[in-house]
Amino acid sequence: MQYPALYLKRGEDTRLRAGHLWVFSNEVDVSRSPLTDFKPGQVCAIVDSRDKPIGVGYVNPNSLICARLVSRGLDHALDKSLLVHKLNVALALRERIYDEPWYRLVFGESDGLPGLTVDRFNDVIVAQATTAGMEQLKDEITEALVKVIKPRLLWWKNDASIRAMEQLPDSVELAVGERDNEPVIVREAGLEFECDPVAGQKTGWFYDQRENRDGLEHLVKGKRVLDMFSYLGGWGLRAAAYGASEVVCVDSSQAAVDAISRNITRNGFDGRVSAVRADAFDYLKLLREQRDRFDVVILDPPAFVKRKKDLAEGRVAYRRLNELGMQVLERDGILITCSCSYHMPRSVLLSGVQQGARHLDRHVQLLWNLQQGADHPIHPAIAETEYLKGFVLRVLPA
Ligand code: SAH
Repeated sequence: MQYPALYLKRGEDTRLRAGHLWVFSNEVDVSRSPLTDFKPGQVCAIVDSRDKPIGVGYVNPNSLICARLVSRGLDHALDKSLLVHKLNVALALRERIYDEPWYRLVFGESDGLPGLTVDRFNDVIVAQATTAGMEQLKDEITEALVKVIKPRLLWWKNDASIRAMEQLPDSVELAVGERDNEPVIVREAGLEFECDPVAGQKTGWFYDQRENRDGLEHLVKGKRVLDMFSYLGGWGLRAAAYGASEVVCVDSSQAAVDAISRNITRNGFDGRVSAVRADAFDYLKLLREQRDRFDVVILDPPAFVKRKKDLAEGRVAYRRLNELGMQVLERDGILITCSCSYHMPRSVLLSGVQQGARHLDRHVQLLWNLQQGADHPIHPAIAETEYLKGFVLRVLPA
């Protein structure tokens, strides 16, 4: 197997040898291997300054992360057979943990496939490439997924905003199967949710919160529950299934609210769960004014801190949101609060909650830490793979 070599400067192999998969452009010995010699997405051998190969990866000369390692050593070509192997390894984890074929099948770097995300909805697959390297391998990935999963439909939903960092254009295409108008159904814990992986958000469903939603079982029986930023009602409907007396789901998207309403009926929760279209901050203020109180408040917002430089502003937004959440809680209430912003540290989220609690003269007890589910495994050497954090808190009068 002959791939062009990407040579690293002296000492720049340390991080890769410690488990990381990324090469930054300033780590490349451009006198030996000019980045301009590589095409975006081109497969390469990553080699250290003493000519020892580290492994096979791919290059994007237009990106700050200019190469990513896919396979250690030079024994395996980056081809369909390697992809099939990696997909089978990823599938084995999910099949071990989940009873049914609904999960994130591939979580990029953590599954040894940097730049690739694959969500599975039974026989519907939604794949997303976020790097030029994965984009170049699209046909091989499609073939490998067909071999491993045999999907009825396979969508490439290549419209994530981070693609811009690799100078990739947006494109959404059906690679396998015939388009139909049937809604895609997600099954989670015995419930069914109608979703739209193509027009909907991200790849259609937030599998990363599934295990966290499982925790509602111990918290909501006979209680009034408020599910803010509810999207398709993941938290809210799970709460209803665990016996909540009343659930209000709130989202600013009309499409989401319409889908929640259908999901309420589909699962037989009419009369117990309702869906409201509103801005979360406005709605919480309205509830506060009306002195409407809930036993359990769930705050699962979109990322407020998308870039590191937004942290100062974002932490204020999280704190404000959590204060508002506490203000609509009953005297002994449960607050479930989350952040999916990688750049928002767990400790900063918690200290914001604590400051908000003191400001309102409340006492907070941290019951459970939340993190992304096991189908989004964390790569211990790559901090960016750990992005979802949250807390289950009891909020009491001081
Ligand atoms: N809780 C969901 C995922 C939330 S995704 C789940 O478990 O599946 C974030 C959601 O927040 C999106 O559905 C988006 O439409 C909604 N949203 C974004 N900004 C909002 C705002 N200001 N007020 C209310 N909803 C908002």
